[in-house]
Amino acid sequence: MADYRIGITGCAGRMGQMLVREVLATPGCKLSAAMERGGHEWIGRDVGELAGAGSLGVKVGDDAVALFAASDAVIDFTTPAVSAINAGYAAQARAVHIVGTTGLSSDQEDELHSAARHTAIVWAPNMSPGVNLLFALTEEVAKALGPEFDIEIVEMHHRAKTDAPSGTAIGLGRAAADGRDVNLDKVAVRGRDGMTGARKKGTIGFASLRGGDVVGDHTVIFAGDGERIELTHRASTRQIFANGALKAALWARGKPPGLYTMRDVLGLNRR
Ligand code: NAD
Repeated sequence: MADYRIGITGCAGRMGQMLVREVLATPGCKLSAAMERGGHEWIGRDVGELAGAGSLGVKVGDDAVALFAASDAVIDFTTPAVSAINAGYAAQARAVHIVGTTGLSSDQEDELHSAARHTAIVWAPNMSPGVNLLFALTEEVAKALGPEFDIEIVEMHHRAKTDAPSGTAIGLGRAAADGRDVNLDKVAVRGRDGMTGARKKGTIGFASLRGGDVVGDHTVIFAGDGERIELTHRASTRQIFANGALKAALWARGKPPGLYTMRDVLGLNRR
C-alpha cells in the first residue's frame, strides 16, 4: 500500500509540533503538508528542520485548500473556528479529518456533523486511551449508582488553556448524563459563586482549576451519603494525545463518511 499522506495544521502549536514528530516516526505514514495561520513566522520554512528532523522538502504553508488536496488525512489541533471551517475543506477533498480542538460552539459542532456526511471525521476532546476508558467507566458507574449520588467533575490544566471547563470534562459530563439517560445541557452546573442555594438533585457540577504546566487532570466524583467514589485520570505528557491522534488517522483510513469518536477508534462503544 502507498504511504498514507498525513497533513498537520497548526504545526507550530504545542500539539502541532508533537504531531509532526509523531507522523515522522510512524511507519507507512508520510508528512504530506504542514500549515500555520497566515502571517506566522514559520510560513515558508521547512517543517522537518523546525521539528529537528532535517530537511524534508515540506514547507509550512497557509493555504487550507492546498493542505487538504495534498493529504489523505489532516490532523487538526487548532481553534474552534478554524476546525469548523476545515471540516468543510475535508468534505470537499474527501480527506479524513482528525479534530482534537476543544471548545466548539454548537453551531461549530453542526458544521462537523454536516461535513461528516461526506467524509470520515474523528472528533474527540481527548485522544488518550486512558481518558476514553474513563468515559466508558463514568457512564457505567453513573448508570449503576443512580441519582442519589451527586456527580461533580473537577479538572486542572496549565495556565495557557483558554477554554473552561475542558472539552474532556464536558465529555465526562456527557458520559455521566448518558448513563443516567438525561440531557447534560439540562442538568449541568458550570461553576458556582456566591449564594448559590443548596445543590439540586440530579445536577452534574463542573469545577475548573488553572495553573503551572499541568497537562490535564480529571476526576469524576460520585458523592453519596456516607461514601464517595472518585475516578481519576492524570496526563503527564502530551505524547498520549499525539499518539491517539495518529491511531485515529490510521483507523479512519477507508472508513465510510461519519462523525466518529475515540471510543469508536478504541472499540469502547457499547451502542
Ligand atoms: P496552541 O495554541 O499551542 O496551538 C494551536 C496552533 O494553531 C497555533 O500554532 C496557532 O498559530 C495555530 N493556528 C491558529 N489558526 C490557524 C489557522 N487558521 N490555520 C492553521 N493553524 C492555525 O494550542 P494547543 O495546546 O496545541 O491546543 C490546540 C487545541 O487542541 C486546543 O483546542 C486544545 O484544547 C486542544 N487539545 C486537544 C487534545 C485532545 O486530546 N483532543 C489534547 C491537547 C490539546
